[in-house]
Amino acid sequence: KKRIAVMTSGGDSPGMCAAVRAVVRAGIYFDCEVFGCYEGYSGLVQGGDLLKPLVWEDVRGWLSLGGTLIGTARCQEFRERAGRLQGAKNMVLRGIDALIVCGGDGSLTGADLFRSEWPSLLDELVESGELTSEQVAPYRTLTIVGMVGSIDNDMAMTDNTIGAYSSLERICEMVDYIDTTAASHSRAFVVEVMGRHCGWLAIMAGVCCGADYVFVPEQPPSAANWREEMKKVCLRHRERGRRKTTVIVAEGAIDDELNPITSEQVKDSLVELGLDTRVTTLGHVQRGGTAVAFDRLLATMQGVEAVKAVLESTPDTPSPMIGIQENKVVHIPLVEAVKQTKAVAAAIERKDFEAAFKLRDAVFQE
Ligand code: ADP
Repeated sequence: KKRIAVMTSGGDSPGMCAAVRAVVRAGIYFDCEVFGCYEGYSGLVQGGDLLKPLVWEDVRGWLSLGGTLIGTARCQEFRERAGRLQGAKNMVLRGIDALIVCGGDGSLTGADLFRSEWPSLLDELVESGELTSEQVAPYRTLTIVGMVGSIDNDMAMTDNTIGAYSSLERICEMVDYIDTTAASHSRAFVVEVMGRHCGWLAIMAGVCCGADYVFVPEQPPSAANWREEMKKVCLRHRERGRRKTTVIVAEGAIDDELNPITSEQVKDSLVELGLDTRVTTLGHVQRGGTAVAFDRLLATMQGVEAVKAVLESTPDTPSPMIGIQENKVVHIPLVEAVKQTKAVAAAIERKDFEAAFKLRDAVFQE
């Protein structure tokens, strides 16, 4: 029987539990044994109770849950070869040679590195006498499959990541709450949302909540006059009778000189218009709560596909990332997706904003 470990790693997102549930149950359906790797890569490194079998009943009721019940962690040890060596040993001892990782680009980068090092890790374990060559012989190839769990929707080559729509829903609910009081008092609100490198949440929230103005990292406004531009637009809306002003600022908003645009700066500019202005930083409510229907669906479809991908993989296939493009679940070479994701950040850093915007997926650009 094929033994597969499933983990959630990096920042948590609603739908990760549904993804684990889908992997466990699809695994059982396809006659595999599934192990839960608890606390991200720490589960591999530490083994013991952090790497143990999951059965059908273990994931009962997980479909709608937010966060991740198998835990997630930032695991420093796994960044070092010694940690990955320990991880390989723990896997071989349990007969596991396939790993499904639901996480962000960091987690998927780690997974691919692990796969590329795998044969040499096994050799080293044999040389040092920790394992025998008979023990490692059946597990010479490691299969890695990635799924993207991220509230920011910050992975390239997939239209959506697991958790992004739940987070967007939370933001919309909060902005709706704010809107009622804003309109009552005729106030302005600056709402700061998550998204350090990716403005998807901010843009989508802007559209869904009818914001006056949005600041995102991929399309930075001019350092020289962004304040005036924003004020002009907000003032125009007021002159047309709007009783509230809503400006959405992504956490990673910048101007075209790469200076951060902060909520406080935006507030100060709105105050100059004579508006009674408040700042609301939504913070971790954006990660919380149950998964919306779309994330449950995405996680379930992708979890099943991830198990199939494990069973279909050959030593020559590049590690796939399961993604979604135009409503179809697709396999994307994991390395390519991570590379393109990093290229966006690099384009922003060298102030090539046109390239940064183009590298984002079609859905974002529309
Ligand atoms: P995310 O997956 O959300 O991008 P991180 O970048 O923090 O989050 O990565 C999560 C974990 O993945 C890290 O704590 C570490 O254990 C592992 N990881 C990330 N990058 C690497 C890497 N280059 N090599 C090995 N492990 C990595």
